Amino acid sequence: MQFKAPKGTTDILPDVARRWQYLEHKAIELFSIYGYEPIVTPMFEHTEVFLRSIGISTDIVQKEMYTFADKGGRSLTLRPEGTAPVIRAYVDHNMNQLPQPVKLYYTGPMFRYERPQAGRYRQFWQMGIEAIGSDDPAIDAEAILLMINYFKSVGLKELTLYINSMGCDEDRPVYIRLLKDYAEENREKLCRDCQKRIDLNPLRLFDCKEESCQLVMKDAPKIIDYLDKECKAHFNKVRQYLDTQGIAYIIKPELVRGLDYYTKTTFEVVSPFLGAQNAIGGGGRYNKLVEEFGGPPTPGIGFAIGTERLSIAVEREGAFLSIDNKMDVFVAVPDEAARSTAINLLSALREAGISSDLDYMGRSLKGQLKYADKRGFKYTVFLGSRELESGEVVVKNMETSEQLEVPLKELVDKLSEILGRPGAVARVKGPGTGVQG
Ligand SMILES: [Zn+2]
Ligand SMILES: [Zn+2]
Repeated sequence: MQFKAPKGTTDILPDVARRWQYLEHKAIELFSIYGYEPIVTPMFEHTEVFLRSIGISTDIVQKEMYTFADKGGRSLTLRPEGTAPVIRAYVDHNMNQLPQPVKLYYTGPMFRYERPQAGRYRQFWQMGIEAIGSDDPAIDAEAILLMINYFKSVGLKELTLYINSMGCDEDRPVYIRLLKDYAEENREKLCRDCQKRIDLNPLRLFDCKEESCQLVMKDAPKIIDYLDKECKAHFNKVRQYLDTQGIAYIIKPELVRGLDYYTKTTFEVVSPFLGAQNAIGGGGRYNKLVEEFGGPPTPGIGFAIGTERLSIAVEREGAFLSIDNKMDVFVAVPDEAARSTAINLLSALREAGISSDLDYMGRSLKGQLKYADKRGFKYTVFLGSRELESGEVVVKNMETSEQLEVPLKELVDKLSEILGRPGAVARVKGPGTGVQG
């Protein structure tokens, strides 16, 4: 009996997993530089957490949630996104009593029960940040800048940044009434889902993927034209900060981002290499969310980046070339006599931070070299009974085929030097790690 991964999921094999890891390391590095700290929340939450935050009438809640009852009869949902759990944790742990803003980042899988299609999985990975506690437009600009700088740091050059403002409780009701009126006038041209959206949550009309609906919504009134003084000033400040930093952007009044919790600034970055599903990251401000979870009025802003789509974009831009996935040293053992010395050598190499391996399949020398070639090693060391006798081993550069002889006793230091691991040379060797011929 063989099994495939469940429908809508996929195995991330080493070649791709390595790229994801690289993308994640780069993200964590940069997030830390911007003052963000890691947080890890559960992969499932009480269903109410998402109903409350994402909004009952959104596509996510209506169609895409992975909801189940556990053995205790609780309704739980696999997290469809990362912001709601982080804000739930912020409130749960009274993080409002910490120095503000609280800046957090997360990485990990999210779950949405979508119709499987190219590049869309039911389990997908996101990396995101949340800056909670400040309504300063400078932090909006900082979040946007961080996302752009991150994409640049992994080699993306062709990016388009869209920004918008979603207004607040003051200006949105006025706008929603106008939007409702407009949609009502065009009811016949809208799909059945959208006809329901008119009453349920007209903002979601902008999310519809039906062409006829998008055509109608193109001419719909846009929130950006109905912002109150405070929201307009905030948006202008954000723009001003972006301008000062030399960040190019396009104002996209349709950018409402599929979730109910956004207020004021929203933003999205797209890559031309991804076709219709071209957003690689997006986010926005959510000044009501902490209150939704029972906390004190607390503004916040964040973004999330889709790891799969980012990985595809980076690949299509040809920016992954620089990832070094070669092992450092293969220890070829022509005869059994040298094997235990070889195993000691392997330990010493690894302790010196040199990635290394030897044959565990009983291959002939020829077979070992073939394996080393296929797996990809930078150097091969030959260690047989002849080398044990002479105390000299041959080190072969697998790329240039250049060979040099090195005394076995100096091998680890010599390889550290060649591979540019200067720290390793000074390392104090513990018992049992020295290589004796
Ligand atoms: Zn407003
Ligand atoms: Zn529609």
